[in-house]
Amino acid sequence: MAKVLIIGAGGVGRVVTHKCVQSPDVFGEICLASRTLSKCDAIAAGLGRKIHTARVNADNVPELVALLKSFQPELVINVALPYQDLTIMDACLEYGCHYLDTANYEPRDEAKFEYKWQWEYHDRFKDAGLFALLGSGFDPGVTNVFTAYALKHYLDEVHELDIIDVNGGDHGLHFATNFNPEINIREVTAACRHWENGSFIETPALSAKKTFECPGGVGTYTIYRMYHEELESLVKHIPTLRKARFWMSFSDNYLRHLEVLQNVGMTRIDPVIYNGHEIIPLQFLKAVLPDPGDLGKSTKGRTCIGNIVKGIKENRGKSVYIYNICNHEDCFREVGSQAISYTTGVPAMIGALMILSGAWKGAGVFNMEQMDPDPFMEKLNIYGLPWKVRELQPSDSYFKSDI
Ligand code: NDP
Repeated sequence: MAKVLIIGAGGVGRVVTHKCVQSPDVFGEICLASRTLSKCDAIAAGLGRKIHTARVNADNVPELVALLKSFQPELVINVALPYQDLTIMDACLEYGCHYLDTANYEPRDEAKFEYKWQWEYHDRFKDAGLFALLGSGFDPGVTNVFTAYALKHYLDEVHELDIIDVNGGDHGLHFATNFNPEINIREVTAACRHWENGSFIETPALSAKKTFECPGGVGTYTIYRMYHEELESLVKHIPTLRKARFWMSFSDNYLRHLEVLQNVGMTRIDPVIYNGHEIIPLQFLKAVLPDPGDLGKSTKGRTCIGNIVKGIKENRGKSVYIYNICNHEDCFREVGSQAISYTTGVPAMIGALMILSGAWKGAGVFNMEQMDPDPFMEKLNIYGLPWKVRELQPSDSYFKSDI
């Protein structure tokens, strides 16, 4: 039975805390810490078991180290924001415990996310005999594990990868993002990059789209090509990949609102002076948008996230589609959250389980595809994210059309 510190009491933090509480045999003692203590206490009040809560500013390493020294966890699950990744990694090294997150570091003043800053910690974690697991959400996270699973069980070599993230849910509001609005809008408005023949090719944001028919009657959606962080680690660790792309569905309504917000300057991340104070327009926008953690009660419909992985098996072309379908309303009934927080929080808990149970061992900084996919895939079925594999025939056409 281990002690675990969860940092970040947002939409994802709520799910991770509920899921850890559901496994007392692994997570013996839990502390949920965040910038706003009342948010930790509100989550703690809805659990069937007592946990500790604490206030911490995760931008401040000495404050983090003091909390680690007083609670003495074996592992920190970081579900605060990507801006805090490096300070939390520094604190884990200084105190001496394992680390896990769901999104890679990005600097506040530049909408640019890359693994290089966190990969640079590899030797320090290795020398300390500590494990840092990066990107243990759904995408990145489960999508990396799906790719490793396809390679282990279905293919001798992986050549092409399409990760397709469809949110077929509807929250009934004019405009809301399904995870932290600031991080979400920075990601969606960034230039697209996809991997083709040995390099990343940059194209304007959301300039390529297709229609995709989800399995299980989830529906047919327009999906847009965009850059996503798992592409960077997957092409590094699976060097046979010739093409790797990431696609996400957006409704026309979401895109119309986003276009207006961009046109009027509300998505800017440089400071502007307002009434004598510096404000960042995107941070102000976040403050007036709905909190994604509150969308659970009104969101209906399903998500369908998965990978089409193409390659060769015994010198013949072969493709598989591995996917999960998740129902927003079922998630709300179980933990009080919508499916985007759920599909992120459950893999974060399972990643923690892999480290604490010793199913995944390592000293250094690792991405999910570097680990054995089998024990993780088994736990997805147990903890609420069951998956399916379809072997595709050459005649199967999941992409209905280029638009
Ligand atoms: P939220 O904004 O709902 O929650 C973030 C929490 O972190 C808030 O409670 C916030 O505190 C807290 N926080 C922010 N800054 C600090 C700080 N300096 N010190 C302490 N706590 C802080 O975000 P989500 O729950 O939607 O997302 C959490 C993470 O999950 C993000 O990094 C996001 O990118 C990632 N994510 C990953 C996905 C994946 O599939 N891999 C998918 C979706 C999200 P306060 O409440 O006071 O603001």
